[in-house]
Amino acid sequence: MRMHKIILACVLMVSCLGCSGGANVHTEDQSTINPTWEEEDHSFMAPRFFDLIPTKDGNQCMFVNDVVYLGDPSKSAKMIPYCSKSGCKHDSMECPAYVGPNVLAFSPYHDKWYYIQSNEDQSHIFFVEHDHTTNGRKKLWECSTYEEDRAVHTFNVVPQTIRHERLYFLVQEMIFHPEKNSNSKEYFHMLDLHTGKDTVLKEFDITQYGHSPVAVSDDALYMESVTDIVDLGGGYETYAALEKMDLKTGEVQVVVPAETRMHAHFHPYGRTFNDELVYITDKELHLYNTKTGEDRVVESIDEGRMLYMNLCGNVIYWSMVKEDRNDIHMFKTDCKRGETKEIVSPHTDGAFECSLYSAAGNGIFGKMEDNNGDLKSVWMTCEDYENGRYEKAVFPEGIKQDK
Ligand SMILES: [Zn+2]
Repeated sequence: MRMHKIILACVLMVSCLGCSGGANVHTEDQSTINPTWEEEDHSFMAPRFFDLIPTKDGNQCMFVNDVVYLGDPSKSAKMIPYCSKSGCKHDSMECPAYVGPNVLAFSPYHDKWYYIQSNEDQSHIFFVEHDHTTNGRKKLWECSTYEEDRAVHTFNVVPQTIRHERLYFLVQEMIFHPEKNSNSKEYFHMLDLHTGKDTVLKEFDITQYGHSPVAVSDDALYMESVTDIVDLGGGYETYAALEKMDLKTGEVQVVVPAETRMHAHFHPYGRTFNDELVYITDKELHLYNTKTGEDRVVESIDEGRMLYMNLCGNVIYWSMVKEDRNDIHMFKTDCKRGETKEIVSPHTDGAFECSLYSAAGNGIFGKMEDNNGDLKSVWMTCEDYENGRYEKAVFPEGIKQDK
């Protein structure tokens, strides 16, 4: 058996994971809408998106360009690498803040960091458990490209959530044969962090678009199944159904049917709040309760299309575009009060000054251009964000420049 160097043709689905910081915060206080990493449920984030995760001591943790930082942008722009070695450049495995190259997704959980990493050509993919206090790194699970009976098997791994000491992830296997048709399979895994036991919860043949994991509750894993991709002329919309997999039996049930025309790619990926998942259709904003199965319409529009939503505690930020026009309108819906208001958005060319990724403390974290026109991670108070006061944005300092 000889290892083949194959560049994965499949687009990395971890890119969909970026906007999630965690889930299931059982509080209605908006100042704690993000869980600390002491919480019991964390979704993975992709390094190309940026997220802030509060730590127990009130700081914010940030993973960007191979390094983990700590700081609080509401107090100071300065972010500090998670490293106390003097003179350290934070660019080698000797540094506890440096996780290394080719990290596809990252999550802090309890006192450790978990991430999925690969070698340069992605022929070898593995999970790492990283103890930053000792800089100890342990490989938890791995897979490699291999050839068997002339068929080459390659892999892509989409991590989802760590919850109650269990890591949930999706493995996609692509099988290429020189004479036969290629085919693909999906495996939903559950890895017990205590015992190291790896369980395949469910296996699917990928016939068309496949699945993406969305969230995990106490008894089920939620995934979206893409049903349709529509060319809208000037852009595509991907529609999906929401499916629920029983963690004990593996039984799969559709909870939001394809006819609903749910937009695929939950934003932020995997976040639930008070056990609720948010999704949009072209005209409606929904909350789906994973405990009760209740699906309610929170807001709807008569004209135009909804584009995007982001659940931040009891608040949902969402946007819509009017028919035949490019101007995007952004709204904030307070689910607790049942109020919706339009947010100031000075741009009318379809671009936002600041792309929102997550909420952190009393602020939001996103990306916007600095004075040189470079796209940078940025923090703003919710109030400044909602009133379009972008000049108040804080560009965290001390982090390695975006690649
Ligand atoms: Zn260092």
